[in-house]
Amino acid sequence: MTNVILVSFDTTRADRLSCYGHFRRTSPHIDQVAERGVLFTDFFSPHIPTFPGHTTMMTGMDVYAHRVTGQLHNYEPTEGVQMLAEILQKKGYYTAAADNLGRWFARGFEAIEPYGWDTADKNHWRKAEAVNGAVKKVLTSAASQDKPFFLFFHYWDPHTPYLPPAPFDRMFYFGDEKDPDNTSMDAVWDFENFKYYFSEWMPDVTDIEFPKAQYDAEIAYMDACFAHVLTQLDELGLTSDTLLVLTADHGEELDEHGHWFDHHGLYDTNIHVPLILSCPSLLPEGLRVGGLTQMPDLTPTILDILDLGHIAQEQGMFGKSLLPLINSPASTQRGSTDCIHITENTWMKKRGLRTHQWKFIYPLEVPDLHGNSDIELYDLLNDPDEQVNLVHERPEVVARFTKQLEDWVAERLTATNNEDPLPLHPIPLRSIGRSMDIAVPRDKRLTKEVEKPVTDESLEGGDFIGYEREEGNTTSSSHNP
Ligand SMILES: [Zn+2]
Repeated sequence: MTNVILVSFDTTRADRLSCYGHFRRTSPHIDQVAERGVLFTDFFSPHIPTFPGHTTMMTGMDVYAHRVTGQLHNYEPTEGVQMLAEILQKKGYYTAAADNLGRWFARGFEAIEPYGWDTADKNHWRKAEAVNGAVKKVLTSAASQDKPFFLFFHYWDPHTPYLPPAPFDRMFYFGDEKDPDNTSMDAVWDFENFKYYFSEWMPDVTDIEFPKAQYDAEIAYMDACFAHVLTQLDELGLTSDTLLVLTADHGEELDEHGHWFDHHGLYDTNIHVPLILSCPSLLPEGLRVGGLTQMPDLTPTILDILDLGHIAQEQGMFGKSLLPLINSPASTQRGSTDCIHITENTWMKKRGLRTHQWKFIYPLEVPDLHGNSDIELYDLLNDPDEQVNLVHERPEVVARFTKQLEDWVAERLTATNNEDPLPLHPIPLRSIGRSMDIAVPRDKRLTKEVEKPVTDESLEGGDFIGYEREEGNTTSSSHNP
């Protein structure tokens, strides 16, 4: 029988991996997995950030079905929604994870190996090596079982703060990041809400190319560490019969839209993520599949590959199996949908639509974090970097998408018999100047390392620090669509 290992590379943009065309060679080992498997070129994580991203990844549902829209831990998935580990455990799989999310993400796992990393060094963190320590234990334990396994590994390296260890810290940057004559970071340092946080981990940096290079260096470090996992799989003789699934819960904004070094905004930088499947005994080699595909498709695809596709139907999963696209090369440009419904509940609350040609973004609370109240419309064929907002030039397209978005929400609320979850869940608030070592959410029940006392209980719910919204600064303007 086939084993499954699902790997989430948190905060990893598709376009910063070399197998997705990045000009830097960031991911030689992930690239190897792609070469011996299937890479989906246009795969999107439609619900950001971390909690909705992973909940969607592991349920095959959208936010209207599972109702996890943001980072608050008191909004659990809707009753009856099953996590992939729960499903596979019932089917006789050994289930284990190397992860620190805890909460509902722990459901269905027989064993969870938590991890933590040393944050005493303010310049270099070795996150992936800490994760690898947990992964090694999980893999060893799984290999000794007399049944197939489902494992989940969760890496965090490209998540801020970007502090890659040597020699990766100078892999992609050769200049003087504190050159007093460089003014490229001026706008970043003028951004009140984040500047205290940024000053914690990149003090006095003047060259914006430096944090961009460090983001890539974090991917390269993570990729090198992931090579150890591939080696261990080989040594255990598990490579051929193990379905390896590599993906990410969301991407990251670098300097594309003035939302620096964080993952808010429904731009492709944040929602276009990698999806690579490899299973030498079952799947073709070196296949690249085009067409729009999305995170809700992941769990139905894994189930289908395991000959458990009927469960996706029984559970009423929102996503579609991508196996037909893999098996029928003629259909590989078709995708699983023509239109992806996207949502964010980060520092901003928005939803929208992404088609092959268009990106439509509708703000639910205005002004947003950046003082913007506009609807956004981008022609992705002529403006793939989403730089020119056509909201005023193309009113007929805006009208069409506004109606389509309204209809979509209404349809999903009827189908799920749920209330719209986005207006219900408040935007999580965090304070300026929190220590950077809490930038990653950790379930305290799973945390082994000695942590500084965290006084604000709500911090355990969040993936974001460095920003405090003034009371009354943001008002809810509309809940439609
Ligand atoms: Zn995340």
